[in-house]
Amino acid sequence: MTKRKFEILILVLLTIALLGCDSKKSSSGTAETSSTQANQPSQRAQAASNVEPQGPAMHVDPARAMQYVKEIVAFGSRWPGSKGQEKVAAYLRSKLKADHLEEDAFVADTPAGKLSMRNFIAKFQGTKDGIIVLGSHIDTLYPPKGNNFVGANDGGSSTGLLLAIADELRSKKVEGYSIWLAFLDGEEAIQSWTNDDSTYGSRHLAAKWLNDGTIAKIKAFLLADMIGDADLDIERDLNSTPWLEDLVLQAAQRLGYQSHFFVREDAVSDDHQPFAKLGVPVADLIDFNYGYNNSYWHTPEDTIDKLSPRSLQITGDVMLETIRFVNGRRQ
Ligand SMILES: [Zn+2]
Repeated sequence: MTKRKFEILILVLLTIALLGCDSKKSSSGTAETSSTQANQPSQRAQAASNVEPQGPAMHVDPARAMQYVKEIVAFGSRWPGSKGQEKVAAYLRSKLKADHLEEDAFVADTPAGKLSMRNFIAKFQGTKDGIIVLGSHIDTLYPPKGNNFVGANDGGSSTGLLLAIADELRSKKVEGYSIWLAFLDGEEAIQSWTNDDSTYGSRHLAAKWLNDGTIAKIKAFLLADMIGDADLDIERDLNSTPWLEDLVLQAAQRLGYQSHFFVREDAVSDDHQPFAKLGVPVADLIDFNYGYNNSYWHTPEDTIDKLSPRSLQITGDVMLETIRFVNGRRQ
């Protein structure tokens, strides 16, 4: 036992002695916050263990997922206003034409002026009321630095994975909640990351879905980002919904992939946040350690040779298994 853990234990015992057994929710004071954090995971795991997955098992084809990523990366940079942005749009239209594809075009006010952006949503009808959304951003780093940033992992990997998931959903009847795939434009900051300069597509779509009543029907929003890294190590994201993160871990454990999940934890800003702010349960599946000390992130080093089909498979299968757990959860 480390000294810190020992101190936390003493504080927990003192807190229980002073305030009674059910007094762990206070967030006042560092000590109590520490004891709360020390106690939460086991309580959450206990609650999550009552959930049984429902519906047939679903899997992605790793070779096809990798092929899609390669084809997307071959379009070059895909920032708003680029040729690559148009090419990836045409590509998504051709791949998803049988999937009730909707387009959500808008003009974003950015530090670089007005920029045209476009989200795509493919819809797979389920057998009960409610929607599970899987998301990925489709744009690459801005401002443009020539065409030597291709975003194989950051933008490419999760977009290719969602297309492979579409193949799986198309091939069988979706049991349980409907599944929508959201391909989101304009995730990257145009100048530097702030709440107003980032996640343009997800903010636009969340506002649109609030207006038309869709938000209230969403049972879970699972985001994938930077999940192609051959050295896959997905964070426990502290900006995600704890019970949904627990289901992600449970899904990973059931498939034997748990060593790739939640070794690190971090509070990640990403496309899940506009939905979380509206009360949607969210989980961001992101490996924010890409190369030694994240050294490939947002550099021309973010190329296809750093990725592996196996990482796409692990993430895709865990997302699909998490859907089964969300379907099995009592509302
Ligand atoms: Zn990025």
